[in-house]
Amino acid sequence: AAKAAGRNTMRMFTSDMAQAADRRLDLELALRRAIERSEFSLVYQPKLALATGQLCGVEALVRWNHPERGLISPGEFIPLAEETGLIEPLGQWVLAEACRVLASWDADHLGPLTIAVNVAAAQVNRGDLATVAEGLVRQYHIDPGCLEIEVTETAVIADHDRAQATLNRLRSLGIAVALDDFGTGYSSLIYLRRLDIDTVKIDRSFVQQARDGTRDGDIVRMIIEAARTLKLSVVAEGVETAEQAAFLQELGCDMIQGYLVGRPMPLEQLKTWILGRQPSEPCRLAKLVLVPVQGRQLSG
Ligand code: C2E
Ligand code: MG
Ligand code: MG
Ligand code: MG
Repeated sequence: AAKAAGRNTMRMFTSDMAQAADRRLDLELALRRAIERSEFSLVYQPKLALATGQLCGVEALVRWNHPERGLISPGEFIPLAEETGLIEPLGQWVLAEACRVLASWDADHLGPLTIAVNVAAAQVNRGDLATVAEGLVRQYHIDPGCLEIEVTETAVIADHDRAQATLNRLRSLGIAVALDDFGTGYSSLIYLRRLDIDTVKIDRSFVQQARDGTRDGDIVRMIIEAARTLKLSVVAEGVETAEQAAFLQELGCDMIQGYLVGRPMPLEQLKTWILGRQPSEPCRLAKLVLVPVQGRQLSG
């Protein structure tokens, strides 16, 4: 009986695995087709300077408009795209699309725009990211200073030297580099020591419980102080409440990003959002979140 049960367990196990493999294969096929059919789009999430309340850029986040399943978030398909190598054509599309938008951006009407693009480990480690970016900057005649690349700590684990060479080339082109999800890698300080970057983005898992007197609050304070010492600018991700924003402002955090400021939105909505803030109310949100702290004078 025990043997039979064992066999049954085994059979169930394998059929579960087969099902999972099937689903994966389906998804992989769909992903492959989605790239050919251009089923992807970008949404843009604003980033705000805490000192002035001004918009200082947006982050481009990819979405998959699946014909049957609707919008699929990157958490569901980026890992698979990475495993299957499909991240390379997808990543190229994302970068090209961001450049195309920068080129079509009406700076007179809407003000200047900086777009940050997330790149995957494979893109950093392949080594031609800077060449691709340089080609796109030329092709679209855009200011490289309007482009920013976000890398994660895990993207630079595999091959530090190669990653650093890629990041250096990007920076020498005038493209800024930000270290994303900071604090979630297993040895974050190593990256600060080894990598020449411009910006650190504090992971939202620290930001959400960051208040005076909490351990997360102390960690956030420490990251901001480290960034200041190293002359890096610092963005807090996932800011959802005015209390979090006020705390971050008190600590001297440069920029915030999160639902409090704005959710990721399609391009047309971003334009409306920007126009809604300018010129009559450039700091509508800033007024809401930027309470004067410790005598610091706030414009807005
Ligand atoms: P990320 O780069 O750290 O982006 C921030 C994520 O947090 C986004 O999720 C954003 O929608 C979400 N978020 C922003 N503000 C808040 C907030 O106040 N509260 C909460 N709870 N969440 C907030 P999203 O768009 O689902 O993207 C998830 C991750 O997928 C990104 O994390 C990034 O690592 C990756 N990703 C997105 N687009 C791309 C891409 O084009 N290429 C690559 N390689 N990865 C991408
Ligand atoms: Mg990011
Ligand atoms: Mg992040
Ligand atoms: Mg993240």
